[in-house]
Amino acid sequence: MLVETETAMRCIQCGHMKDKVIDSRISKDGTSIRRRRVCLGCGYRYTTYENVERTELQVVKKDGTTEPLKREKMLQGMVKACEKRPVSVDRLDRAVDEIITTIHQDHNAQVPVQALGLQVMDKLHELDPVAYIRYVSVYREFDNVKEFIEEIQALEKRSFRERVEKRANAQARKG
Ligand SMILES: [Zn+2]
Repeated sequence: MLVETETAMRCIQCGHMKDKVIDSRISKDGTSIRRRRVCLGCGYRYTTYENVERTELQVVKKDGTTEPLKREKMLQGMVKACEKRPVSVDRLDRAVDEIITTIHQDHNAQVPVQALGLQVMDKLHELDPVAYIRYVSVYREFDNVKEFIEEIQALEKRSFRERVEKRANAQARKG
């Protein structure tokens, strides 16, 4: 079926403003659409890639101003934290999507920068403890060493608690 598109694209061959989409495919991860188009002026065929945009998330900064959430920036921060750690960039890329999905569920259009940071920390904690500590040490801007040590102790307690909970759950399943 041929569907006429809403957005006019100028044909690079003849300059005609009308085209028809002859095939649309959504990428595996659902974030982009590949469209085969044909110019109605000269029949030239070409492909466009369009990103699926969700409502743009705004990050509320500490001083109260907002800025659009920058996916690349988020990913870069996580990649840096995972340097030389056994976590692939691919996995981190997916982690960013998971975080954004969670934020969309919890907040409508705005997310406080602190909440965003916590989401990233949670995700890194899940993926790699060393990366988590690295990220926390940068993000939290600790005033002193004591604070940093307390954070790590909290992490240890937390992972201990998780181990205990896991064991309890396993036992509960066994009956
Ligand atoms: Zn054309």
